[in-house]
Amino acid sequence: MAGTRTFSIIKPDATERNLTGAVNKVIEEGGLRIVAQRRIKMTREQAERFYSVHAERPFFGELVDFMTSGPVVVQVLEGENAVARYRDVMGATNPEEAAEGTIRALFAKSIGENSAHGSDSDENAAIEIAQFFSEADIAG
Ligand code: ATP
Ligand code: MG
Repeated sequence: MAGTRTFSIIKPDATERNLTGAVNKVIEEGGLRIVAQRRIKMTREQAERFYSVHAERPFFGELVDFMTSGPVVVQVLEGENAVARYRDVMGATNPEEAAEGTIRALFAKSIGENSAHGSDSDENAAIEIAQFFSEADIAG
């Protein structure tokens, strides 16, 4: 494997505007390789499980509604320090605070509809990848 892995989701606000390719271009130009990718419509059960760490947060219901409102693209990204690198490529959660050229600065509509998800640790990346992909789906 070339480096480490992270898990990414291109969120419904981006797929709705036909921005999958535009987001992928920023990912690839940011030094990450898309080694697995699938477009799905998340069920409520999948979204609730995926975001279970946020279950007590006030925006949890809104977040699950949003993530199930349209198709998403789930991805495995590979590269040197993939988790930290992808968080740099995505930019801050709130697009108003996101650095120029990042996915969220370029495309996000709001703090909730912020176009992309990226894992926050190697441990969570492995858990999140395993929720959506088997090792046979990943070609590095
Ligand atoms: P992600 O986990 O999606 O990569 P993140 O790690 O930058 O984003 P988290 O704090 O983990 O941010 O929040 C998860 C997601 O919940 C955010 O990406 C966003 O879509 C949503 N969210 C976070 N804070 C708010 C908020 N104050 N209001 C509405 N939605 C929010
Ligand atoms: Mg997070």
